[in-house]
Amino acid sequence: MMSRLSRSYAAGLLAGAALLTSTACGAGSAETGAGAGGGKPAVVAAFYPLQWLSQQVGGPDAAVSVLTAPGVEPHDLELGPHQMAELGKASLIVYIKGVQPAVDDAVDADKAFDAATAVKTLPAGHDEAGHEGEEAEHDHEVSYDPHLWLDPARLATVATGLGERMAAADPAHAQGYKDRAAATAASLGALDKEFTQGLATCRSRTLVTAHEAFGYLADRYRLKQVGITLDPEAEPSPARLAEVAGLAKSEKVTTVFTESLVSPKVAQVLASEVGARTAVLDPLESKPSGDYLSAMRANLTTLRTALGCGA
Ligand SMILES: [Zn+2]
Repeated sequence: MMSRLSRSYAAGLLAGAALLTSTACGAGSAETGAGAGGGKPAVVAAFYPLQWLSQQVGGPDAAVSVLTAPGVEPHDLELGPHQMAELGKASLIVYIKGVQPAVDDAVDADKAFDAATAVKTLPAGHDEAGHEGEEAEHDHEVSYDPHLWLDPARLATVATGLGERMAAADPAHAQGYKDRAAATAASLGALDKEFTQGLATCRSRTLVTAHEAFGYLADRYRLKQVGITLDPEAEPSPARLAEVAGLAKSEKVTTVFTESLVSPKVAQVLASEVGARTAVLDPLESKPSGDYLSAMRANLTTLRTALGCGA
């Protein structure tokens, strides 16, 4: 608990919001209006990108709440009594198995939609030799990388699957769910095109990140992710840091990516060692200042600058 709080403090502006919502039983209760969904199905999303997706697809027909309050890094979420009650009352829970062990343990499989079952997943710790040791300590309990929402094309597939699931659960409004799912998939498809074009020609294709969350983005757009650690809370080993520094130097990396909810210290140390800058790339594990689409477009701009991508 302390470590999560101190990380929220480090996140600066977000700290106040995180503390407020954690004492008020989570943002979800407020958004749901404590059962005042007007008879609408209660959809509980585990964390931000799934909240966004559920709201897009659910539209006015669903009462969507979120388990992970804004400003809280979701991986180590602990569920309090209010959140357990919220899960109990939910007609549908939207989550990704492997992101949050507490949620994985608490969901009732019959009323859950696991987004990881809707797409082809990538193996965890896929690329780097000597990474297996870190993976074993990591608290993700699945063999695949769960950060699939960072590939807009995969998220479009999830939108379609979620639309079908919501339609089946609430047949009276089936057409609305399907139509909104199709519209959401189309806007994600447009975003995917922007990424494909924006990252087509770049001086560097190596993505050095502190938290190894961008495997799907790298896979989709032919980038190579070199992550320092899979667990945003773990202290990386000196050996791993030296290994990444060596790679970054040999690939003439200009930027080491960090993120807003995690201390940038490790990334800064690495960046100064290899003579690079740091820049923030948002893994969207918590609500951004805009929404999923605008935050991903900001990520694209950051990547194009850092990697030297042409028009
Ligand atoms: Zn993560």
